[in-house]
Amino acid sequence: MIELKSRAEIDAMAESGSIIGALFFELENRVAPGVSTLDLDHFAEEFIRSHEGATPVFKGLYGFPGTLCTSINDEVVHGIPSSERVLADGDIISIDVGVRLRGWCADSARTFAVGEVSDEAQSLLRITADALERAVAVAVPDRHTGDIGHAVETTVRGTGFEIIRDLVGHGVGRKVHEEPQVPNLGSPGEGTKLREGMVLAIEPMIAVGTWKIRTLSDRWTMVTADNSLSAHFEHTVAVTADGPRVLTGTRERISDTLRPLS
Ligand code: MG
Ligand code: MG
Repeated sequence: MIELKSRAEIDAMAESGSIIGALFFELENRVAPGVSTLDLDHFAEEFIRSHEGATPVFKGLYGFPGTLCTSINDEVVHGIPSSERVLADGDIISIDVGVRLRGWCADSARTFAVGEVSDEAQSLLRITADALERAVAVAVPDRHTGDIGHAVETTVRGTGFEIIRDLVGHGVGRKVHEEPQVPNLGSPGEGTKLREGMVLAIEPMIAVGTWKIRTLSDRWTMVTADNSLSAHFEHTVAVTADGPRVLTGTRERISDTLRPLS
């Protein structure tokens, strides 16, 4: 069943989301060569808990040990923060985080460039961020989840990059993972019809090479099967009569935080 949220409930979720927005703003300055993913995780947990009543959603969820999922280069999602994973110049790192405040969740992810990255990596980040923005734009009443997937598909088509097919977005509410599923491929008019009050995590994951993924022996980290670079951008978005309301990114459009393509 898809639970519709009231205006007040969406406002509450926006408060959770604003903590994530502020966290990403802080992380922007902390993602740098020499920093370990565990350093980032500790900072994030402290930052979240410094907001009264706020807790990291992923910590302990299905047994995941971290506040952040930190996925470097060919890692698509669910990388485990570790003191042994130290960022190097030229890496890209996808950081995915959930926050719960007064019972309501928000979920967001961004891929950061570490120092100077390749043109290919920059272009991957740009296209994935664009895919998210275009997908968010169609999260309006009477469109369908297929319209969201289609927006991702048309953004990626012709770039040579591939959409990770086996991982999808989802509803968000009191639980971080709710119905419906929000695939990153689809046809307009297909899938779940969007209604006012639905709140969705829209989260394209795009790889330079194959869309196929595999899980590492830690049983968490998912990597591209050909070890090509992968990026992930995610917003929690409310479907409202006034249009899509992004709950996790108040400070700026994601694409404005990326360096221009050279
Ligand atoms: Mg997420
Ligand atoms: Mg999500």
